[in-house]
Amino acid sequence: MTELLSNYLGGRWQAGTGAGAGTALLDPVLGTELVRVDATGLDLAAGFDFAREQGGAALRALTYRERAALLSAALKVLQANRDAYYDIATANSGTVKNDSAVDIDGALFTLGSYAKLGDALGDKRFMLDGDMARLGKEPLFQSQHVLTPTRGVALFINAFNFPAWGLWEKAAPALLSGVPVIIKPATATAWLTQRMVKDVVDADIFPPGALSVVCGSSAGLMDQLQPFDVVSFTGSADTAAVIRSHPAVVQRSVRVNIEADSLNSAVLLPGEAADSPAFDLLVKEVAREMTVKSGQKCTAIRRVFVPEALYAAVAQALSARLAKTTVGNPRNDTVRMGALVSRSQLAAVREGLAHLAGQAEVLHDSSQQALVDADPTIACCVGPTLLGTRDARGSDSADRVHDTEVFGPVATLIPYRDTAHALALVRRGQGSLVTSLYGSDAAALAAAALDLADSHGRVHVISPDVAQLQTGHGNVMPQSLHGGPGRAGGGEELGGLRALNFYHRRSAMQASTAVLAHLQTPA
Ligand code: NAP
Repeated sequence: MTELLSNYLGGRWQAGTGAGAGTALLDPVLGTELVRVDATGLDLAAGFDFAREQGGAALRALTYRERAALLSAALKVLQANRDAYYDIATANSGTVKNDSAVDIDGALFTLGSYAKLGDALGDKRFMLDGDMARLGKEPLFQSQHVLTPTRGVALFINAFNFPAWGLWEKAAPALLSGVPVIIKPATATAWLTQRMVKDVVDADIFPPGALSVVCGSSAGLMDQLQPFDVVSFTGSADTAAVIRSHPAVVQRSVRVNIEADSLNSAVLLPGEAADSPAFDLLVKEVAREMTVKSGQKCTAIRRVFVPEALYAAVAQALSARLAKTTVGNPRNDTVRMGALVSRSQLAAVREGLAHLAGQAEVLHDSSQQALVDADPTIACCVGPTLLGTRDARGSDSADRVHDTEVFGPVATLIPYRDTAHALALVRRGQGSLVTSLYGSDAAALAAAALDLADSHGRVHVISPDVAQLQTGHGNVMPQSLHGGPGRAGGGEELGGLRALNFYHRRSAMQASTAVLAHLQTPA
């Protein structure tokens, strides 16, 4: 029997008390059992109370700078254990080293960024929002908005594809804000999240109750939420709907942030030749986005819009790149792309691919390619597939490509007539996390970016001058907003200090200027 991972709740390690052996976490390449998780029988009410009361009070007693120092200390512990995290990612997520880095080093970078931002906030325990505004003719009675940390707990329910980054991109802003965190990772890959929390807890960095982890079923977690708690969810649109309609949200006004699925896009603007730098940049990035983490990235490019005249050239250039992708066991150095997370995700990708292919032609198909060092009857591996809608009229009639997120190495090439047509097609995604624009005409790029801004959390604009500096379509940088309107869930995360807003309450203080003057100095 493999190890049963413990939960950390109520300031102590607790094993689930399920009658069975818990849920097994598997190696998606070898099919072997790695560890088990079980959250049955935990006293969730007591655990949430402990976090809210002990963890919350202790965190709020500290200044932003002091809390930032705790983030820095946690970062040091995680850096010291980095190799172990890579081993867990190889085993449990089936990712090659470069793909594990997106999750693990992305997590560490984000945590470090918030430690720096927090340090710059200084010795304060609240933030001012804007300036004082006179409420009468004389500047005697005024209004000043303040942001104070919410006196609740932050519940995080995360997706399977980012067990490390998903933890810290949420926990860093929450802990910096002074709000205790309870994290429930997706079961399939909970091991890495649990191990990171364990390392930080064992190092005794945060006050008791500040950081908790529950591995296993989500049952009962949402029921614990009280009016000043917040919940941040990342996952599928279906589960998002369950979270949104829970009584905690509907009746108790628990603040909720949703990061759901998204049909992200890349657009090659008109006026670029088939051998132009912008053309090459688009092709390179689309191939990368399709294959990094086997396409299991919420930000991955799913729809690729190109001028009708360049459809064949882009199809050819992309196919040539994708053909070089070796797929299989991430422990083999020749492998560029590892596994999907589970057999059920593999089945979902195959099903989604067949659905999309019903309205598209297949331009490149590596889905049946031989695997390196992996048994296709066991391994959850699949090569990349590029679909296409052939001509601009076909682009208008195809609807599945704008509706169906295939969470794997799959993208669809979509030809357009002119810029207005391209932008209208992009918007059929109903709101996405990110779109990328490729071109060399700065004015045209700026105009298209503004046009798409309201339907995207991030617009990534790539001209040849930034070819070497750019951070990549799918890389979520802590300085920039992550989230998207509509179908993408309507959430907002990161974006530098903006992330702290979710964990603070805004209040308008109406008082004499003399009283408000006391808010200008640290407290
Ligand atoms: P999922 O099935 O919706 O699961 C997400 C999380 O919700 C898991 O922790 C899951 O726990 C939990 N959960 C399931 N049912 C629940 C319920 N009734 N109440 C409360 N929690 C519940 O999603 P997934 O398959 O892990 O993730 C893939 C999806 O996430 C993709 O669609 C992807 O686009 C999206 N995603 C979005 C972002 C973003 O930032 N926008 C990032 C990553 C992924 P169990 O694992 O125990 O079932």
